[in-house]
Formats: sequence, structure tokens, C-alpha cells
Amino acid sequence: QEKYDKGLAKTRKTFKQRMNELFANFRSVDEDFFEEVEETLISADVGFETSMRIADELRQEVKLRNAKKPGAVQNAIIEKLVDLYEEEGLNEVNELNLQPNGLSVFLFVGVNGVGKTTSIGKLANQYREQGKKVLLAAADTFRAGAIDQLVVWGERAQVEVVRGKAGGDPAAVVFDAMQRAKEENADVLLVDTAGRLQNKVNLMNELDKIKRIIQRVDPEAPHEVLLVLDATTGQNAMTQAKQFKETTDVTGLVLTKLDGTAKGGIVLAIRNELHLPVKLVGLGEGIDDLEPFNPNDFVVGLFK
Ligand code: GDP
Repeated sequence: QEKYDKGLAKTRKTFKQRMNELFANFRSVDEDFFEEVEETLISADVGFETSMRIADELRQEVKLRNAKKPGAVQNAIIEKLVDLYEEEGLNEVNELNLQPNGLSVFLFVGVNGVGKTTSIGKLANQYREQGKKVLLAAADTFRAGAIDQLVVWGERAQVEVVRGKAGGDPAAVVFDAMQRAKEENADVLLVDTAGRLQNKVNLMNELDKIKRIIQRVDPEAPHEVLLVLDATTGQNAMTQAKQFKETTDVTGLVLTKLDGTAKGGIVLAIRNELHLPVKLVGLGEGIDDLEPFNPNDFVVGLFK
């Protein structure tokens, strides 16, 4: 929780500052005010649609309550943000779909540099510490260095890495890894993939092929397709999420680098506009800096 609070400090400070500015100039709840609310939310990376929606609901709510004092209006804003989460059960922690018995296969997708390899390493370490047998598959055979990087994380996390040749067929690596995982009775297989969004058709074909290969060994797998996004890129992350969602069945998000950014508001936008659950957040470069995401704590934390 401490790490979580620290990681979100920047987002919180910026959000609070903007809210304070909004209420410092508070005159009355007129149309100008609601437009300022919209602008404040957009500038906090809450996203355009989400900001409009919150402002619209706020208009009704303020009228309904006949709220005139700044404190009452601010409370209404907090409640709207929390409501947004609760509506779809978003206030609950979204656990990873870990199988109670047998192998769990999680596929990691996302563009280069977002923190895919790092997140895989961190998660592998957590599972290994819990006494699970973990395997990693280096299926990003496209980018020079990607395999080596995963091997380094494998050493750090003390788990085995199944790898092929650079430039080789990623599906072949995944097939080997599935075989190995079954033979060795592994509990978790984490698969690193290449994320080339510039060619969506290729990416789609590649991910489809990887999935088919996995399903040849286990028809129920993969149990998660986790899209990794870099929170510091704000609206860019949002665009990537939309594109990946069109390319493959994403089951959840890993939002990295929340420690270094004031753009944590992106979490709200992603939730409201894409209906994708954030399952994990990255809060630093260290092996222990990966935490389950708790939406309620997050929203409440914005106003602490
Ligand atoms: P990949 O290309 O998607 O596999 O990205 P990497 O895992 O290689 O990460 C890219 C850079 O982001 C590295 O320098 C990581 O240390 C850094 N990084 C990853 N996750 C986090 C995080 O949660 N917080 C911070 N501050 N840095 C991170």
C-alpha cells in the first residue's frame, strides 16, 4: 500500500492541484464552471469521452441536490468518479485468471519499450516465490536483444526461459514452451511476444498463430492476454489499447511506469472507454515493483 501511494504521488499531486485551481476560482455552478470541470479532467488525462460523461452527470446531480457550495460540488465530483468504477464492478480488484489445477498460460502483448519484459520478470518472480513452477517463453524473436533481455530477467527471477533463434518462428518457440511446460508440470507459462503495431495484419496473424499453437496443446489456453501499456504516454497508451483490442482478444491490462508520471488519470479513461480491466500496475524498475490494481483505492487516492 505504501509503495502504491508513493507510485501515485505525482498523479495525485497534479490532480489535486488542478482541482484546487478549479475551486479557487469558484464563483457559481454555471455553464462556465462545468466547462472548467471538463477541461480539468481532460488535462488530468481522464480522457475526452469520460470527462464529458462525468461533467454531464455532474450537471444533473448538482441540479438534483441543489448544491451551491464548493465543498458539496467537489463531493459530487468524487462520487461520480467512484460511481464510474462501481457501475461495472470495476471497484473490485481484478485477479489474474490463474488455474487452480494445471498450467496457466499468460500471453503478453504490447509495443516495444512499454515494460513487457520487465513485467514478465516481476510476475515470474512473484509466482516462483509462492512456490509455483514458472517457465518463460521468448517469442519475441523479431527484435534483436529481446531474447537476451528476457534471459536476464529469467536469471533474476530464477526461472527457466525457453528460447529459439533470433529471427526464428515465434510459434515454434511457443510450441516448445508448451511441450516443456506440460512435461515438467509447470504451473505458469508467461509468453513474451513481439508487438509491431505498424503492421496490424502481420501482428494479428502472428498472435493468431501463437494462440492456435497454444490451443493445440491446451484448448482452454491462453488464460490471459495481457496488454502492457506505458502510463507515461497518456493518450498514446489509449490509442495503442484501441488498436490492440481490434487485433486480438485482450483480457486485461498491465499499466507500467505509474511511478514516474502524473498521467495516472489514463486509468479512468481506459476503464470507461475500453472496458478493459487493469490487472497489474508497475510502480518502479525493481523486481518487486509490480502490484495488483485496486481501482477504488486509486480513485479515493486521487483526492487524499
Ligand atoms: P519491453 O520492450 O516492452 O519489453 O520493455 P522493457 O521491459 O525492456 O522496459 C523498458 C524500460 O522501462 C526499462 O528501462 C525498464 O526498466 C522500464 N520500466 C518497466 N516497467 C517500469 C515501471 O513500472 N516503472 C519504471 N519507472 N520503469 C519501468
